[in-house]
Amino acid sequence: MRKGKGILILLILFLLLLVAAVGCGNDQKEVSNKAAQAETEKKKETPANEPREQTAAKDEKQQSEQAVFTRGEHDEAPDSLAIPVLMYHSINEDVKNNLIIPPNEFDEQMKWLKDNGYHPLYLRELGDILETGKNVPEKPIVITFDDGYLDNYTNAYPILKKYALPANIFVITSKIGADNHFDEQAMKEMAANGIEMESHTVHHPELNQLPYEAQLRELTDSKKCIETITGQEVNSICYPVGRYNEETERAAQEAGYRMGFTIENSTANKNQGMYRLKRLRVSPGIKLEAILPQ
Ligand SMILES: [Zn+2]
Repeated sequence: MRKGKGILILLILFLLLLVAAVGCGNDQKEVSNKAAQAETEKKKETPANEPREQTAAKDEKQQSEQAVFTRGEHDEAPDSLAIPVLMYHSINEDVKNNLIIPPNEFDEQMKWLKDNGYHPLYLRELGDILETGKNVPEKPIVITFDDGYLDNYTNAYPILKKYALPANIFVITSKIGADNHFDEQAMKEMAANGIEMESHTVHHPELNQLPYEAQLRELTDSKKCIETITGQEVNSICYPVGRYNEETERAAQEAGYRMGFTIENSTANKNQGMYRLKRLRVSPGIKLEAILPQ
């Protein structure tokens, strides 16, 4: 009787062990299958006669090369630079006027820039590049938006993030959080994620209609306001409706701006004057290749 009980206990223990072993076994089988698969794949890539250590070193080298993001920087004569600064306003389905680009068109354009090896710049990089011609990336370009529309945040920003393209927004500071314009929170989020915030004045006046002191206030107050929100330096001003005069240029300099942007249609070069830089307007229905210099 006692012997029978002992055998029964042993049998139960044996069954329990068997179940546990089968459970682990399945996992192990899967893991080892994957390992075998990975090994086969590695073997496919590796010449059979290459020693194992050498392959490992090569893998490491390839990884570190990928980690260093190169834009093909080189030096050029500043006089010969012609950098396209794209001017966008609204990215919206509702194309009411020629300042609005539908999101699918904008997406195609950004994809095209990415696929064709363009390197979009931040405005904080552009000043040095224009003036010195040093460290110019291959196919430099600048993406800018005027006015700070809400759809820049809801429509353009996700597309720019998708393709990892840096861009710049000229903000009208009295409109932050106003109807149809993004708010401080959105501004902070974008500024922390690859969108540089620059100034488009406080109230969007035609600057050439204002006396010098009033111009200076528009430029100084907007710069401070944006810098306080984002914690990043503002170095560019874009003149509302493209209106400016010599006093505007002087005020921009006094307020601490490095560059001033107009809406005159051309690529940018320092010989235009750093406070009279030109841009290329993007209208709905056009292809970027049609407006970019070849
Ligand atoms: Zn504007």
